[in-house]
Amino acid sequence: MHWALVGASTIASDHMINALRSVDDGWIDWVVTGSVLHGDSFAKTHDIPKTTTDLEVVLADAAVQAVYISSTNEKHCAQALASIAAGKHVLCEKPLAMTVADAVGMVQAASAAGVTFATNHHLRCSGSHRAVQGIINSGRIGRVLSLRIHHAVHLPPHLQGWRINDAGAGGGVIPDITVHDADCVRFLLGQDPVSVVAQSGVSGMGAGVEDSVMSVWAMPSGAMVMAHESFTHPFAGSGLEVHGTLGSIFARGVMTQAPMGEIELVTAAGREVVPYSGHNLYVEAVRRFADAVAGRGQPAADGRDGVKSLAVALAVRDAALSGTRCHVNYGGF
Ligand code: NDP
Repeated sequence: MHWALVGASTIASDHMINALRSVDDGWIDWVVTGSVLHGDSFAKTHDIPKTTTDLEVVLADAAVQAVYISSTNEKHCAQALASIAAGKHVLCEKPLAMTVADAVGMVQAASAAGVTFATNHHLRCSGSHRAVQGIINSGRIGRVLSLRIHHAVHLPPHLQGWRINDAGAGGGVIPDITVHDADCVRFLLGQDPVSVVAQSGVSGMGAGVEDSVMSVWAMPSGAMVMAHESFTHPFAGSGLEVHGTLGSIFARGVMTQAPMGEIELVTAAGREVVPYSGHNLYVEAVRRFADAVAGRGQPAADGRDGVKSLAVALAVRDAALSGTRCHVNYGGF
């Protein structure tokens, strides 16, 4: 697979370049950036042969089969639509867009063009989340009553840019982390949240955008979800708990980019540690994407999943800002 990177980003540097090159002899031909200087240095550091600030130049290159978009959030939609129009397959970072309508438009455009379009929700690719999903689906915890997800982290200094001060670029903890939690909950429970209530705030880092949020979601089955996301919690750890009529699952330290954390299942029979696969989450996401391009199955998280995680996150933001319960608007999906 011949790739172009759209966005010379930290996530590309830290995880995705390795993942794209690891699958099916992946080859990165281009990096597209907004800054010639940054692009040149990024390309040199990562041994990428060509760099440009003009996306159209890359899209005119017939050798490029797929693009990985990891620019700031407000750019995703236009870059994806242009790539789709040029017949490229697109793996797009979350959140797909700034509005549900834009995200729906991206998915519809990809479908009409017959290209593969996916959202880079890495957590559903982890062995730990798959193990939790497997226990739920096995019935061992009975009917799910509630799910608590805590994803309050400390944003490292090198990421404390647009995320904490630029609403126009899609900053704020809700588009950054609540979207991931929404995708996890949908993946684990196989249901889409119906409505949400929420409180958001600034707890030391945000400037013009929220850096912390807590919300409660109503699920169609009657289960309740409680979610906590923040940029300002150095020692909180992360994890999720799923509580059912016959047992509870405690997955500690699993809301991560690396395969780590522990899972414990507690039932009337006692406590047991649950093993899981330690494969690389991002490699798995790229593998599923490449398979889908080759006609083998679906991406791990497709465009609809990206629309739905965004819809939940935006409902959480609306609920926090309005102080009312908000129904999740999935844009017809
Ligand atoms: P960064 O802040 O590292 O990069 C975003 C953009 O900022 C780059 O594309 C680049 O713009 C510009 N930029 C970065 N560094 C420099 C520099 N030194 N000089 C000039 N410009 C610079 O973003 P992240 O990697 O943190 O996030 C990118 C996207 O990926 C977001 O949409 C985010 O939500 C998503 N993400 C997803 C994760 C996941 O696990 N799925 C994890 C982390 C992020 P340009 O390319 O236009 O020059």
